[in-house]
Amino acid sequence: MSKRLLILGGTGEAAHLATQAIDTFGTALDVISSLAGRVNTPRPLPGRVRVGGFGGRDGLVRYIKAEKIDLLIDATHPFATAISANAHGACDQTGTPRLVLVRPHWPTLPHDAGIEVDDLVAAAQALPKLGTRAFLSFGQGGIEAFSHLSDTAFVVRLIDAPEKPLALPHATVTTGRPPFTVEGEKALFKSHGIDVLVSKNSGGTAVPAKITAALELEIPTVLITRPPTEPGPHADSIEQALGWISGHAE
Ligand code: NAP
Repeated sequence: MSKRLLILGGTGEAAHLATQAIDTFGTALDVISSLAGRVNTPRPLPGRVRVGGFGGRDGLVRYIKAEKIDLLIDATHPFATAISANAHGACDQTGTPRLVLVRPHWPTLPHDAGIEVDDLVAAAQALPKLGTRAFLSFGQGGIEAFSHLSDTAFVVRLIDAPEKPLALPHATVTTGRPPFTVEGEKALFKSHGIDVLVSKNSGGTAVPAKITAALELEIPTVLITRPPTEPGPHADSIEQALGWISGHAE
């Protein structure tokens, strides 16, 4: 009998996983990808796609039961902590096997590359000591932590142009979606006079172009530490995740 897999997504890894799961298991697996709906025009995904919040942990419990979800893989971004906690709780409550697809950490950056801080508030505290023209590219969520910095100019890269002004005193918006190149990022930083980068320490198979560009231009980076991963079974790669699905396929 066909099993139904819910992938909590919104990341490149989740999209690759959906593609490879469908290629590998064919009609034996019904794949549903779930997106929060933050992006107006998400990239096309194979299989079924649902968009929007579930309504907290209880809403996810209801969805799992109504849709008869057999397996759940949390392939959300490492900083998407609310949905991951809800997935943990909802799967425990419904007895649904859950796997977390965990990104590898980036290699350690050189000591003089900048500083690492615990959260966005600490990043905002540290910023004025490092520069006056900051580049932010982690979406609009959390941007208000910087709203009191009236002497800092911000260049904010978003996927979609914002519908209302950003909650920052001096902000220039640029739009774009990955992949980005080191040369492209360097040109962007130079054209805006960027002298400090703020980045989540999101991890991934490669250090992103913006970090390499900042290193090459000797622009300091304020890195925000990755929050802890939800406990439970986890996979470090898509291959491992496919193996986990296989082990639950009967
Ligand atoms: P979050 O703080 O963990 O979640 C906030 C709420 O958004 C959740 O409680 C849930 O609403 C809804 N939600 C989040 N991810 C969802 C998903 N995949 N499917 C359905 N609902 C979802 O999440 P976030 O940091 O805002 O991230 C939102 C999405 O963007 C995630 O899918 C994540 O993978 C992606 N993303 C995040 C970042 C980042 O830096 N945080 C970067 C790149 C991509 P309900 O409580 O109503 O269910």
